[in-house]
Amino acid sequence: MIDKIKHRIKELESELLEIRRHIHTHPELSFEEVETAKYISATLTRHNIEHKTGIAGTGILAIINPEKTNRIALRADIDALPILEESGASYASQNTGVMHACGHDVHTTCALGAAIVLNEFKEEINGRVEIIFQPGEEKLPGGASLVLGEKAFGDELPSAIFGQHVFPELEVGKVGFRPGIYMASTDELFFTIKGKGGHGAMPHKNIDPVVVAAEIICALQRVPSRRANPIIPTVLSIGKVEAKGATNVIPNEVKMEGTFRTLDEKWRYEAHGLIKQTAEGIAAAHGATADVEIRIGYPFLTNDVAVTEEAILAAKEYVGEENVVELDVRMTAEDFAYYSQVMPACFYRLGTASADGSNSAGVHNSKFNIDESALLIGAGLMAYQAYKKLK
Ligand code: MN
Repeated sequence: MIDKIKHRIKELESELLEIRRHIHTHPELSFEEVETAKYISATLTRHNIEHKTGIAGTGILAIINPEKTNRIALRADIDALPILEESGASYASQNTGVMHACGHDVHTTCALGAAIVLNEFKEEINGRVEIIFQPGEEKLPGGASLVLGEKAFGDELPSAIFGQHVFPELEVGKVGFRPGIYMASTDELFFTIKGKGGHGAMPHKNIDPVVVAAEIICALQRVPSRRANPIIPTVLSIGKVEAKGATNVIPNEVKMEGTFRTLDEKWRYEAHGLIKQTAEGIAAAHGATADVEIRIGYPFLTNDVAVTEEAILAAKEYVGEENVVELDVRMTAEDFAYYSQVMPACFYRLGTASADGSNSAGVHNSKFNIDESALLIGAGLMAYQAYKKLK
């Protein structure tokens, strides 16, 4: 089967390249993927692949062997980021300020390639494959939560789901896996510290929210360092601080934003309480107030150990043992985590950097691009994972 898949994928090379470049040139923001969805649907129709549109808004669910009850799912995300592309590619974004900087064009192309091959070989596929082209990975509440919320897979979930993501830290030809916990939960933090503004020369007549904010920032660092169990990775970063005073003006308020990430759901919610208590308590000690809003993001992503060990074996067969690496845990987040919380899941990485060192800019970077030979590997490997899991 491996040779058959590789042979057919190779024949599809120019089509896959064209698909990827078309999607890359025409990126759309999260939950606005209208044209992208039409293009995916047209591609599926051209290859006689049954599919439903309008999943979680702009998503699409393609189904191979709908009559079979033994089911697995493949997932690709389809949205782009609000970034002005600087990759220099001839097929760079024509939608100014929007860019496929997280490789979701690649994920979509690989899933389409896998769908085409699986559909052509459907008699040899021992079950149903449901391929979800999911909107809005990059924006809360995350398209994955909506896909599950509207029961797009039906009342019963597939027995496993696979997600494949580009990885510029890995050379093209290689793929990476990590059984168990792999990525962090993520929550957004918003603070408004209110004092009393006035002349910078008369602090005693005012309540300076800048000094209070500074103290809160430092105290918040004690949540990960002193309150978290040291064996539970925890990150709290404040990335935005806004005080609109002047050299001689103490402002009325300071606004701050940050992120909180960890790998334990119980601790995650305990920490939210400590973050609030810390900010409110320090503000109160100075006669100021702190409003704390915590927007709940994605949960942590855990790869089912059994499914992932099987996927590693399949990958070793497909790309060679020497090309399968073990990944480190990451504190970045992915809405694929929602699937991983409710069904056996495997989220793995596709190497996309070129051997000569090019195409190594990180994801979410305006210069991000991939070595396009990764498309064939990604499409073929996804198809093989589905075939092998249903065998
Ligand atoms: Mn991504």
